[in-house]
Amino acid sequence: MIAPQHIAHLKTLLPANRHLDPDNPQSAAYAADWTKPTSTCISLVLFPETTAQVVQIMSYCHQHKLAVVPSGGRTGLSGGANCLHGELVLSFDKMNQIKHLDPIGMTLHVEAGVTTAQAQDVAREAGLMFAVDLAAKGSSQIGGNIATNAGGLRFIRHGGMREAVLGLTVVLANGEILDLNSNLYKNNTGIDLKHLFIGSEGILGVVTEATLKLVQQPRETSLLLLAIPDMNAILQLLSEFRKQPAPIQAFEFFTHSAYEVVHQIHPNIALPLDQPTSHYVLLEVEVESESFEKSYFPLLERLLSEGICADAFIPTNTREQGEVWAIRERITESLAASGHVHKNDISVPVHALATFELEVLQITQHLQPEIRMILFGHVGDGNIHLNYLGNSNMDRQKFTSQCKETEAQIYPLLQKLGGSISAEHGIGLLKQDDLHYSRSAAEINWMKHIKQSLDPQGILNPGKLL
Ligand SMILES: Cc1cc2nc3c(=O)[nH]c(=O)nc-3n(C[C@H](O)[C@H](O)[C@H](O)COP(=O)(O)OP(=O)(O)OC[C@H]3O[C@@H](n4cnc5c(N)ncnc54)[C@H](O)[C@@H]3O)c2cc1C
Repeated sequence: MIAPQHIAHLKTLLPANRHLDPDNPQSAAYAADWTKPTSTCISLVLFPETTAQVVQIMSYCHQHKLAVVPSGGRTGLSGGANCLHGELVLSFDKMNQIKHLDPIGMTLHVEAGVTTAQAQDVAREAGLMFAVDLAAKGSSQIGGNIATNAGGLRFIRHGGMREAVLGLTVVLANGEILDLNSNLYKNNTGIDLKHLFIGSEGILGVVTEATLKLVQQPRETSLLLLAIPDMNAILQLLSEFRKQPAPIQAFEFFTHSAYEVVHQIHPNIALPLDQPTSHYVLLEVEVESESFEKSYFPLLERLLSEGICADAFIPTNTREQGEVWAIRERITESLAASGHVHKNDISVPVHALATFELEVLQITQHLQPEIRMILFGHVGDGNIHLNYLGNSNMDRQKFTSQCKETEAQIYPLLQKLGGSISAEHGIGLLKQDDLHYSRSAAEINWMKHIKQSLDPQGILNPGKLL
């Protein structure tokens, strides 16, 4: 816990209503992300409104060696924003201003606490698009998206946060400000330091502002929901659609079990297909409905006749499109409401997906019926979310240890296939012991050197990632 004299001083750095004490019931929400640990402990939550205030807070914490947890929308799935040891929470909820939109340069300058959805809305109103999109967009913040290098639903077309960030303002652990690149598209003057902070999970610096790249809005998109017999057929489908002229905007997959979990929690969400199968693909292409019918209907007919596709549904209006997207977007939330959940958010080279899925199903077979394996993900990027779903009456400790034993068999398989133990959720508190499956000893060593130089006191998000 942080000593009372430090708490008293930290409060004086902000206006009176810009903090929460731990005895305030509202503070509990700031101690944990979606991983919801069984016990949490915070000393104080601070809500700075300016970069200058963040500088003051960090300088003081550096001077007195006080642990700080940067906190965004707390939708993280790896425990990165969790506080277990009485840390100070630095929340960006009050740094939520849209600073500037440049419609010609197609850039958007925001404060770190702007939500992903807010950035999307502002861009849309200007006839442009902020392309990073994820089901947590209503709560996740740009600062959190940057710190986790969020990927999401449109990664296949536009990349993730690393591709979307042009410039950053970062406050280092000692209170120094780094203004990195502002809003230049091209700036070939040495090492581009902003990339150090993208995906660094709040251990190297605190992001206070960002300039984001916007893209042109597609004139129209067409959506398809396809029932597919297996992962091999999904890969054939991907290959067929990649040969077409219209860019793929999203290529998502979920299994029938994932759909059942959503339907159980949201009975109004139903699969609009006559032929249920084991796998489904949600495919969005950037093409107007007229040319879609002309060029894609014959392709679909062929895929159906060849058995690559078992059934297809093509929403004809935005309401139907929304209903179809809801099946995919509600999976994480429905899982959380259905029992104990343990996640492996992995990626493998796209060509290895079918082999990987087959072996995972074999490895996890023995867990049933108490623990079911629910699969979905951004399969066009080689990213599958493996979700172990345990009956809620199962002992929590037994559930976790069985999942851990099983993932200890899955990680070497990933290593063999050249995959990663985290495609997008990051390492946080949950996967530190397994980092070596995806990063070499030399890489981990250099990460530690970088951490040591930027945060010699080890006050930023201690215990996370490394
Ligand atoms: C329903 C659901 C769907 C999701 N879908 C996706 C998806 O498709 N793709 C994906 O990539 N992720 C997804 N996620 C995970 C999560 O939404 C992302 O990781 C998101 O980017 C986290 O943002 P946040 O603001 O909630 O960050 P938080 O959870 O608050 O924090 C995440 C990490 O960032 C650090 N941090 C936060 N703000 C700052 C800052 N200003 N400066 C420095 N460090 C900071 C924290 O310390 C922590 O380590 C999903 C989560 C949910 C619940």
